[in-house]
This record gives sequence, C-alpha cells and structure tokens, in this order.
Amino acid sequence: MAARGIHVLGDSVTAAPGMPKSGHMANQQAKVCAGAVAALLAGMPVNDDPIIANTCYSFVGAREVIHVASVHRYDREQKTMLPVKGAGGVSSEVSTDEALFAVAWGFNLMNDIFS
Ligand SMILES: Cc1cc2nc3c(=O)[nH]c(=O)nc-3n(C[C@H](O)[C@H](O)[C@H](O)COP(=O)(O)OP(=O)(O)OC[C@H]3O[C@@H](n4cnc5c(N)ncnc54)[C@H](O)[C@@H]3O)c2cc1C
Repeated sequence: MAARGIHVLGDSVTAAPGMPKSGHMANQQAKVCAGAVAALLAGMPVNDDPIIANTCYSFVGAREVIHVASVHRYDREQKTMLPVKGAGGVSSEVSTDEALFAVAWGFNLMNDIFS
C-alpha cells in the first residue's frame, strides 16, 4: 500500500499477471474497487472472489475484425487476480460477424461508463 485510501487502477498499474491494459479491463477494475469501497463504507463484507473479464476487438480491415478475450479471478493463496485457464482466447480467423460484435461492444462499454 503506497497511500491509504488512494486506489490506482487502469493503465497506470500492472494490476496482475496476464491482465491486459485496456478500457474494458479498467472498467472492470473500477467496478471491483467501487464495490469494495461501498461495502466497507456500509460495514459489509468485501467480495473476496471477484471475477472480471476483458475483450478487445481490432479492425484488421474495413469490415474484418478479430478479438482477444480473457477472464480473471482472485486467487486467495497468491493474493492476486489470475487468468482462468480455458476461459477466453483469440479469434480463430478474421470475421465480418465480429465487426458487429465490436460495434456493439463499444456502444455498450461507452454507455456503461458514461451513463
Ligand atoms: C489506439 C488504441 C486503441 C485501443 N483500443 C482498445 C480497445 O479496443 N479496447 C479496449 O478495451 N481498450 C483499448 N485501448 C486501451 C484503452 O484506451 C486504455 O486501456 C484505457 O483508456 C485506460 O483507461 P485509464 O482510465 O486507465 O487511462 P486513460 O484513458 O489514459 O485516462 C487517464 C487520464 O488521466 C489524465 N491525466 C494524466 N495525467 C494527469 C494529471 N497529472 N492530472 C490530471 N489528469 C491526468 C489523462 O489526460 C487521461 O485523460 C486502446 C488504446 C489505444 C491507444
């Protein structure tokens, strides 16, 4: 702990092994953090088994997209988030279907963050 009551997340930190720096990840980290702060303020137990996920889409052509996804779960023994084995992965091929998913992902993430 560097400064009590100050919580740093997102691109500013290397949060955990195998955890990418992304907007999706920063959003998920913020939710875990806010949930823990709210629980502490309310005198309630903090969730000690958080599970968060990441997805990043990349347009590799005008309509062709690939993705990378991962799931991260808190490991009580190692006291850090670790990638969940067998969860997530990458696109097996370039796909125009994924362009629709990418646009929907962006729309939903923006709504989630700014609404
Ligand atoms: C080209 C590109 C494509 C990307 N594509 C994706 C994607 O498809 N999906 C995805 O999930 N992520 C993507 N990312 C990553 C994503 O943008 C970042 O991971 C995310 O923005 C990190 O959020 P953050 O709030 O931690 O940091 P930032 O968004 O960098 O926010 C930090 C803020 O702090 C401000 N700041 C800095 N210093 C100070 C200071 N001293 N005082 C006050 N303010 C300060 C900065 O101006 C900035 O506004 C992409 C990034 C890039 C560059």
